[in-house]
Parts: sequence; structure tokens; C-alpha cells
Amino acid sequence: MLGRQYQVASTRLHHSRHSLKDTSEVGPEDEEAYPLPRLSPLQKLTTDLCKDDKTIKDLVVGRRVGFYKVRGEIGFGTFSRVKLAFHALTKDKVALKILDRTRLDSHAQRLLSREISSMECLRHPNVVCLYEVVETPSRLFLVLEYAGGGDLHNRICTETKLSDVTCKITFAQILSAVKYMHNHNIIHRDLKAENVLLTSTGCVKVADFGFSTQISERSDALDTFCGSPQYAAPELFREECYLGPPVDVWAMGVVLFFMVTGTMPFRADTIGKLRRCVIECAYTVPPWVPGPCQRLIKGILKAAPDERYALDQMMGCNWLLPVEFPWSLVHPEPSSAQQSLLHLERGSMEEEVEEEVRATLEELGFSAEHLPDSQTKHSRSPVTGVYRILLHRAQKRRGCDCPPVVRGMVSDPKREGLSAYRGIKHTSKLCVLS
Ligand code: ATP
Repeated sequence: MLGRQYQVASTRLHHSRHSLKDTSEVGPEDEEAYPLPRLSPLQKLTTDLCKDDKTIKDLVVGRRVGFYKVRGEIGFGTFSRVKLAFHALTKDKVALKILDRTRLDSHAQRLLSREISSMECLRHPNVVCLYEVVETPSRLFLVLEYAGGGDLHNRICTETKLSDVTCKITFAQILSAVKYMHNHNIIHRDLKAENVLLTSTGCVKVADFGFSTQISERSDALDTFCGSPQYAAPELFREECYLGPPVDVWAMGVVLFFMVTGTMPFRADTIGKLRRCVIECAYTVPPWVPGPCQRLIKGILKAAPDERYALDQMMGCNWLLPVEFPWSLVHPEPSSAQQSLLHLERGSMEEEVEEEVRATLEELGFSAEHLPDSQTKHSRSPVTGVYRILLHRAQKRRGCDCPPVVRGMVSDPKREGLSAYRGIKHTSKLCVLS
């Protein structure tokens, strides 16, 4: 059946000029008179997917999924296993989140379709990118951008607590991601250190949109208790209707507290006691936490949602003052002459990126007729997968995945505890001497 599935794909993907039928039906005696046209990588792959015994076997046993070669396991969740995989054409690493459809009840299916639709709306360097969705009768595969640096929870547990500069860099990226989500009316509802993934260069990737929801107005009231109790805002424990943005803000406050102190602000051995602690907003910031950071934590962890800092206030706080937020992520519209110029620059960069992606797609054997489909939001297409992977790769080459710069910090990895980002290649980029 899988063979038939890829036969359909191959018929669609092959150029009519170099069709599979044309090449496979040429006999040996014809080859001298009519030399075989060289197969493009795409033609070779689609041919293998329906004719090569080893490739078909790999598909059957799960060593291949669509255009991806599957490798070892890198994580698991309540309903999923996550494996490392490689795109057979582009060779890029991806994370493959595998869900057994037979185990998903209607509630889990609803969460999954929300996860997919939220991720489809979001393209931000600090949000895990969804490249493609592959479906088989029994399984569903989310092909995700791979974040190879583990998650923030593990990082904090390993390092006990992170240095001030590392906390600034990490928190600024989480803030940038959440600001972008809220600008797109998406509320995450499960922000926690475990869902903040890191790349080997210290770039933050917010993941796991299973509890996310799309609101039409900032004032839309929500009523489902979501997320992890330790990160849940008081209004969630009070079982009231709640507004989405302040709930994400509260969870960010808990993440920030955990990052700078290495402990959780609200701890209790039963849910009942935890509930009381959170509702009473009973926490103490250790006195050694820098004053500006203490003020930020206290501005966020306020029991009344309408008194809690808004994201813009957080961005403008003293503690984050030395952080240069990636400009394009913070201001969706240019608000000054300088930003208009940056907007123009960005426009020409986007054209350049688009051009590069088209050229690579052509080299791989995709024709122009494949492309309009790839640029839509249809994640269930192998062409979309290749397109998004190449687009992301081109953007990364232009620095879109670099952590933000912190001004006025002396680059001294030992003193600043930058060992947290051991894999970092451009340490100097993190610190600009003023
Ligand atoms: P949960 O039950 O906690 O909600 P889940 O089923 O939604 O989990 P995820 O949290 O998305 O699954 O993934 C499980 C684990 O897989 C993560 O903790 C992480 O270690 C790993 N993982 C997920 N996505 C990626 C990724 N894009 N890159 C690298 N590792 C990942």
C-alpha cells in the first residue's frame, strides 16, 4: 500500500519531460541511441520510494517516513515519541513527533489539531517550526525543526542556576516568542521550562502547542484549566474564566524565577497546598537576585491578572535594557524612519532568500508548478516540507537563529557562566563591548 502511495506522489512530482515511465521503459539497445536522461534527486527518491526494495522495506518498518530517514529516539511525551530524522533530499536534521492515531481519543485529537493549526500560523526564530505533517492510516508524524541543545528544565537542573547574562538572553527570546504569539492571537497555555527547547547555539525554541488556543480578541474569556499546576496562574486555580495573555505572562514569571534561582517559586507536597500558595501569591525572591530582575519578577507574579506586567512593560524593564531584541520580531510594523529603512532591507533580504530557495528546489528537481502549493499553508505536502526546510536554512544562514546580543557585557565565559552554552560557536556575538 505504501508503494502505491508513493507511486501517486511520484507521478505528481515527476516532470512530464523526464517522466518515470519514459526512463524505465527504455531498453538496453535504445540506451546507446537515446542516452538516459539523468534523474534529478527528486526523481531518484520518488523512484526508490516505489521501486527500490530496501527503501520500501524501510518505509514498512518505520525507518523511513515520507521523504525522511528516521534515526534514534530523542524524547517522548504523553501521547508521542520523538525521533531524530533526516530529510532524504536536503539532508537537514529534523525532529519527528510520532503519534499513534489509535491511542488518540476525541479530546486528544482536538488538542492535536489545535497544535497543528497554531504552529502553522507561527514563523518565528524562537518558536519551533512545523515543516510538514505526514499521515498514515495508523500514525501521524509532525516534522519539526530540531532543537539539539535539550530543554531549559534539564539545563537548569544540570547547572543549578544560570548566570545573569544567560538568563537575560534566554528570557528575552522567550519574551520575543510569546509577544509574537500573542500578536497572532495565539495563547500557549503550557509555558514551562520543559517546553523551552534550546539549540546548540543557545537559541530558544518554544515548543509543545498541544494546549494552545486561538482567540479572536484579547478580551476573549477562556475557561479550560490547562498546563502544569506549578506554572498555573491564581485565576486558573480559582476556577474562574480567565484571559489568555496574563496566564502566559504568569507562567513566564515562574520560568524566570526558576532560571535565576534554580528553584520554583511555588512548592508544595499536595495540589491543595500548592493552590493555596499560588492564590495567596506566597513566594520570596532570594535577596541575592539582582534588583532589576527582582522588580521584573514581582511585576509579573501578581495575583490580580490586570495588575500583572504586560509584555511591552517586560520588554522595557531595566533588567532587559542591555538586551538587543531582534528588531524584526518586536515591532510588527515600522514606527520610525529608521525602522522603515530596516523594513525595506528586510524586504530585499526576503527576496534574496526566496531566490536562493527556488534555485535549490530547482537543483533538487522541483519544477515551478510544484511551488505555488509549497507556499500555501498546507503542511500535508512533501513539497511544503522541503520548501520550509530550505527557507529556514537560508534564513539561519543570514543569522535569524542567533541569540540576542547583550550590550556592555565583557566576554568572559567562565565568569558569566556561559558554559551553559557549551556548544556555542559565536560566543563573541553574545557580548558586545560598549
Ligand atoms: P507532553 O506530554 O509533555 O505534553 P508531548 O507529547 O506534547 O509532551 P513534546 O513535549 O512535544 O511531546 O515532546 C516530548 C520530548 O521530545 C520533549 O521533552 C523533548 O525532549 C523532545 N522534543 C520534542 N520536540 C523536539 C524538537 N523539536 N527538537 C528536539 N527535541 C524535541
